[in-house]
Amino acid sequence: MPDIATYLSLREELDPTDTTIIAVSKLKPVVDIQALYDAGHRDFGENYVQEMVEKQEQLPQDTHWHFIGHLQRNKVKYIASFVHLIHSVDSFKLLREINKQAQKYDRVIDVLLQVYVGDEATKFGLDEKETMELLEYYDAQKSSLQHVRIRGLMGMASFVDDQSIVRKEFNTITQMFFVLKNQFFLADEYFNIRSMGMSGDYKIAVAEKSNMVRIGSTIFGDRV
Ligand SMILES: *Cc1c(COP(=O)(O)O)cnc(C)c1O
Repeated sequence: MPDIATYLSLREELDPTDTTIIAVSKLKPVVDIQALYDAGHRDFGENYVQEMVEKQEQLPQDTHWHFIGHLQRNKVKYIASFVHLIHSVDSFKLLREINKQAQKYDRVIDVLLQVYVGDEATKFGLDEKETMELLEYYDAQKSSLQHVRIRGLMGMASFVDDQSIVRKEFNTITQMFFVLKNQFFLADEYFNIRSMGMSGDYKIAVAEKSNMVRIGSTIFGDRV
């Protein structure tokens, strides 16, 4: 069960900074999500397509489902009718597929580009150069991509004890956000989301200008 007192104190801490809390409910049962919903929360994050689809069918229609895991192109169709925000776009092909599936439902799907700033080359996400390239393609083909809306960036910091490294990585993502804002989204009020920070590092992320944090274990307890 979620720790409602902890959730409420997180709200008290983060609401004044205008930071949206995504409660990451992956691997947690529907009753846990319902309990937090009943406490007034609406934004939930999931990592796996099938799990998100099953939960969405069982929870109230006004729940906001955030997809935060690695998304395969052939699975976009399962979530396109209801997903609220996809945090993990890491290729132009994926962006095009989201656009195509959104069109079928006559929707515009909001997305974030997942950027990668650490140094482990195996992780998902775009580096700075790849992000630029994707946005150049996007700019050139915007007229055929009316069913996706790029809202900002999502990124993770390395899992290291050295907080100065974590801080530096979040800062790099924020810098990137403003560079891209200037270059590609200057007149676009919707490019305004920086999704950074999890249970272990959200305070540092918010200090480095995150405005959307993805909190799992602090609210729902450890995943087994
Ligand atoms: C699991 C997960 C989270 C939440 O992690 P906690 O440490 O439990 O808060 C946040 N973001 C992503 C992308 C995740 O996969």
